[in-house]
Amino acid sequence: MADVETDVRRLQVANLPPADSGRGLARLPRKLMDALGLNDGDVIEIIGKRSTPARAIRPYDEDEGLDVIRLDGLQRANAGVGAGDFVEVQKAVSRPATKVTFAPAQNNVRLQGSTEALKRSFAARPLTQGDTVATAGHQRVNADMPDHIRQLLNAPAFALQEVRLQVVSTAPRGVVHIDQSTVVELLSEFSPADGDRRADVTYDDLGGLKDTVDALREMVELPLRHPELFQRLGVDPPKGVLLHGPPGTGKTRLARAVANESDAQFFHIAGPEIMGSAYGESEKQLRELFEKASQAAPSIIFIDEIDSIAPKRGQVTGEAEKRLVAQLLTLMDGLEPRQNLVVIAATNRPEAIDEALRRPGRFDREIVVGVPDETGRREILGIHTRGMPLASGVDLDELARRTYGFVGADLAALTREAALEAVRRIMPKLNLAEETIPTEMLDQLSVDTSDFEGALKR
Ligand code: ADP
Repeated sequence: MADVETDVRRLQVANLPPADSGRGLARLPRKLMDALGLNDGDVIEIIGKRSTPARAIRPYDEDEGLDVIRLDGLQRANAGVGAGDFVEVQKAVSRPATKVTFAPAQNNVRLQGSTEALKRSFAARPLTQGDTVATAGHQRVNADMPDHIRQLLNAPAFALQEVRLQVVSTAPRGVVHIDQSTVVELLSEFSPADGDRRADVTYDDLGGLKDTVDALREMVELPLRHPELFQRLGVDPPKGVLLHGPPGTGKTRLARAVANESDAQFFHIAGPEIMGSAYGESEKQLRELFEKASQAAPSIIFIDEIDSIAPKRGQVTGEAEKRLVAQLLTLMDGLEPRQNLVVIAATNRPEAIDEALRRPGRFDREIVVGVPDETGRREILGIHTRGMPLASGVDLDELARRTYGFVGADLAALTREAALEAVRRIMPKLNLAEETIPTEMLDQLSVDTSDFEGALKR
């Protein structure tokens, strides 16, 4: 008689390439699929620190024979694991949901899309409460795949670009999927009450930064995830890392992604903002933030535009700045190496910041975040057109060639503008401020080469 206990397998997590990401698919070894009695498209539960469902699909040829499961960034976040970690996998049953409630997974995003479009976008996708999921975009795959997987890959777009949603609740609980009779509710705003477990950004959302991500994984993610390794070796992990590069190259996004992928809490300080406060108030805010972050550890504090709060002494510095820098230094020096808190600061003018900040034990590691090259631009364009109804003629390679000098923020703006061009084309009267597009319109909408041409001219 088969023992149920044995039908759980341990596998090592690897990254799923972009083409398969965001669909709720997990690639795993055929040997294991056979052992668990799984066919392509069957539902599994992936158990790390938390548990998340997926549809199993056969591995890439090069993975055959390895005990590896490929997951995308959202799945890794949902399971609370990073690449290289181990998860358990077991067969699961997905039940049709009577009701599913979603909310935007990002702050400051208001949504009021059609729930019909949402239902179609998530058709066949196994979901569970607490997960963060991405809406689909047209991919139109007619490969030799079982129905469930074809349905996942061909799910229609929900909006002009991919939208991240949190599964706030499901009825019944457990692993469910949406079908014809499911009632889908979309809350208009993110509700932080549901925990801070947000996976709004992962490594999958960063293009052209592979080396940078690798460096940060080693400096920040590894010690946050496995403090015991460092303790055993008697090595102190870095307390502070300085990211430097031009505006719009992804520094903020990078810090957020590392926090999410390390399963750490993220605290954000905007340099110029904290400077504006009343006498003594800025230092107090800084102290309180460090306090909160220590309590919530593992944590990452991200200080954006650090040059604005910590300019070189001797430069036109007022008393307020001096006190704030002194406070920051005190707080950093006071951090215990074992506290599991890393401060990441960003600047585009590394030469302009107070040298005292860069002494050992403070921001003693530096990572350059550069302007992307053609390959990087192609990756970034791929990321920002995910979930977009792209016409088949759109040539992202060509666009990458033609956008020399564009940074990530420019490329993101370009894709947004192209999508709006497409909307203007079919709906001259649409109120773009509302940004809700009727489902019937969305079905006709595709962003084509002329839209990108139009966007490039703007
Ligand atoms: P920085 O902090 O370096 O000024 P951000 O991280 O705020 O830049 O980037 C602004 C926006 O530009 C991001 O939200 C994202 O949409 C886009 N972006 C920037 N760099 C990248 C990148 N490397 N990959 C994908 N998107 C990027």
